[in-house]
Amino acid sequence: MREEFLHKLCCPQDKSDLELEVFVRDTESSIIEGMLTCPECERFYPIVQGVPIMTPDEYRQRKLEEPILKKWGLRLNDSSKKFELLEEG
Ligand SMILES: [Zn+2]
Repeated sequence: MREEFLHKLCCPQDKSDLELEVFVRDTESSIIEGMLTCPECERFYPIVQGVPIMTPDEYRQRKLEEPILKKWGLRLNDSSKKFELLEEG
């Protein structure tokens, strides 16, 4: 997924512009793994194998996302109903 395209995505919940954090790029500087975060509602949307996961909360599964987050050293906020990351430190 090209970075230019990712910058055009907005939060499905409130249409805010998302902040992009890149973890893995391929040789053509496409983004393979990363994180889109909404500054408005604080939801996160992971980018896995080049695909941003932007499904609504009700169709997302914490169990499926936890291993991905763990790999990136991040954790899901279990006390939040929405998909929010736990602030570390
Ligand atoms: Zn949002």
